Amino acid sequence: MSFDPKPLRWIELDLPHPDGGGRLVTLRTDGPFALRSWYFAPESDVKMELHLDRRTPEGGLTGCLHCGHAELYTRKKFNKTLGFAIVGVAALLVLVFENYWSLVAAAVIDLVLFSIARDEVVCYSCSAVHRGFGVSPRHPSFDRTIEERLKFGERAVMGEPMREGGTANAPDPEH
Ligand SMILES: [Zn+2]
Repeated sequence: MSFDPKPLRWIELDLPHPDGGGRLVTLRTDGPFALRSWYFAPESDVKMELHLDRRTPEGGLTGCLHCGHAELYTRKKFNKTLGFAIVGVAALLVLVFENYWSLVAAAVIDLVLFSIARDEVVCYSCSAVHRGFGVSPRHPSFDRTIEERLKFGERAVMGEPMREGGTANAPDPEH
């Protein structure tokens, strides 16, 4: 008898709540294929439809599952508050020990935390956050020219037209 269970691979979505006000709805399922096409928003009877056509057969993303927009960026899920807190404690220890080794240690700890932080993929249009999806196609890091175009449209100073297919497998921004 062979036993080959696929390991649990949690995916997580942080979606803007339809009520607005910066509230988020978090959905968590066992892998990208366990998602249903719609959910009720918590504490309301508003249906939140997911754009599951933006999910590739491999579990990657060609666009935002919340609004369907084709431009996404990848960033590290780094806890900035913790990062600053470590530096803050180190600064106090400088006063206690009268040397700077604690600051060096804090920098190293922050660097390690940053390098092991998981990636998350964010929508330029609605800011929905996607975690745990397939790594292909890859969406590059944040590009200010895309944000400008979506915010200001024609009036954008640095705006460039959207690339065909959005940000899927696009090169990293040069700026
Ligand atoms: Zn979106």
